[in-house]
Amino acid sequence: MKIPSELNILGLPVKVVFRQDGEASVSSSASHSAWYNKIWIANNPERSPKAQSQDLLHEIMEAVVAANDLKLDHTVISTIASSLFQVLSDNQLSFAEEEGV
Ligand SMILES: [Zn+2]
Repeated sequence: MKIPSELNILGLPVKVVFRQDGEASVSSSASHSAWYNKIWIANNPERSPKAQSQDLLHEIMEAVVAANDLKLDHTVISTIASSLFQVLSDNQLSFAEEEGV
């Protein structure tokens, strides 16, 4: 999956940027800021494109949780995100309407 540079998440434009290693003092592979409306994905060569896609879905979940002001334990967010990723990717599911259909 090609990582988009911007997403519409519940009507909010959220920028998606690749973070160079060492750029931020963040050790996680990705992060989300509701304040900046931004998702950072680590641009680490050891991280596969599939892992980066999984990171993106996790951060989208974080954005959805923040936008709805849900108080969810991080374990819940992680479990839903990784479970959804498995189902969506293993079944090649896309909910976007295809042209001409
Ligand atoms: Zn998280």
